[in-house]
Amino acid sequence: MVSASGTAHPLAPSWLSVPADANDLPERVWPASAHRAGGELVVGGLTATELVSRHGTPLMVLDEDDVRGRAERTYRAFSHATSRHGGTCRVYYAGKALLTADIARWVLDAGLSIDVCSRGELETALAAGVPADRIGFHGNNKSFGELERAVSVGIGTIIVDSDIEIERIGAITERLGRDQRVLVRVRSGVHADTHEFLATAHEDQKFGFSLDEGEAAVRRIRELPHVEFLGLHCHIGSQIFGVDGFRESASRVLDLHQRLLDGGPVPLLNLGGGFGIAYTRVEDPAPIEELADGIVDAVQTECQARGIALPALAFEPGRSIVGPGGITLYEVGTTKQVAVDTAQGAADRLYVAVDGGMSDNIRPALYGAHYSARIASRVSAADPTLVRVVGMHCESGDIVVDSEYLPSDVAPGDLVAVAATGAYSAAMASNYNHVPRPPVVAVRDGETRVLLRGETIDDLLARDTGLLPPVRNQGEE
Ligand SMILES: *Cc1c(COP(=O)(O)O)cnc(C)c1O
Repeated sequence: MVSASGTAHPLAPSWLSVPADANDLPERVWPASAHRAGGELVVGGLTATELVSRHGTPLMVLDEDDVRGRAERTYRAFSHATSRHGGTCRVYYAGKALLTADIARWVLDAGLSIDVCSRGELETALAAGVPADRIGFHGNNKSFGELERAVSVGIGTIIVDSDIEIERIGAITERLGRDQRVLVRVRSGVHADTHEFLATAHEDQKFGFSLDEGEAAVRRIRELPHVEFLGLHCHIGSQIFGVDGFRESASRVLDLHQRLLDGGPVPLLNLGGGFGIAYTRVEDPAPIEELADGIVDAVQTECQARGIALPALAFEPGRSIVGPGGITLYEVGTTKQVAVDTAQGAADRLYVAVDGGMSDNIRPALYGAHYSARIASRVSAADPTLVRVVGMHCESGDIVVDSEYLPSDVAPGDLVAVAATGAYSAAMASNYNHVPRPPVVAVRDGETRVLLRGETIDDLLARDTGLLPPVRNQGEE
């Protein structure tokens, strides 16, 4: 493919065009405050080199105003969309995307509630001061102990995923003498992935009840004296663009919702999250206001067609709140030209190795996810060349950015920024190869605030009990 601005590299994927300027920062990919000053990438009023001199590399940086702004906009968009039909809604931030105490407080300030899906996320939210009744608890395998903790702190809703969980909640509420509100998660058979959605009768995945089983599950819940059934929950996937998948899913779930109305109230419908963001300039997400209006209008139309009232609605965005405001800064350590055979003969691919990788962002290795990168510490007039940004791990799949055009003089010592890393990178970080997990810092008005401190080598060694001073039994030499 040949673009207007230059000849595509033979190894470039067809979706990636040669940028007119390989220093540019496309608005929908980079955080709201991102721009260049003196050649350097600036986020939240600080240059890349300033950020790195304070906190080192790799470094995850969150543009606080960007994240807060998206949370506020999303809350307003869905509130407005539902109030036009006389309805109400709740927006939950899906904490699994990235949860720290500060982020929990930011989204709370914006009016959102919070979803958690593990004991660790639950305890983080509670410790951050999130009121228990503004927490939703997800998971396909919640333990008795986790459920007991959730019920005893007065958690807002538990999203029930299995018959065994219904039994557990019944027993726990009975024993504690506490009431608990629950939703029932169903598989609508709609699975949306980016630009397409699949609609099947039976979805082959672990979460929730099939639409056929949902009715019996709700009947069992309604028989439990301390458990209140609030409504159905359905989450159709992630990186979804457009309204069609949500409409189809809502239509299927509302058939069950309508049948359930015969047995008692069904005040709520939770349609999950999954709103897509731009990782590269190829994705072009609609404004959240447009999506909110489109989805809520579709639900209202489906309700009208069935002659039922619009229930209170709930949504659970994660990525679209915290993803676009995050960048990761790395330092380039080595570069290497690698000759690759193609149908047209050999072509060189420039590998650019940075000081992080799959331990701080597993998404490229796990899902083949694509990202955008730029040199952050300077601009360059050198011609754009195709690069693959890779990490420092002992794994050939350790890719940070599979395909990107960078100035061809990219060199050791340059700082490279990867865009849109706020969601599901720090949250999924590991210590693979005994690499310490990097810090997460918020930046705003030229000030940084460490949200999660970086790990040290000492942190890693401290877990290895073979390195502790030997514990001797009394009387032993
Ligand atoms: C992951 C998840 C979300 C959030 O998905 P995003 O793509 O981050 O918006 C919401 N609800 C449920 C049940 C999830 O599993």
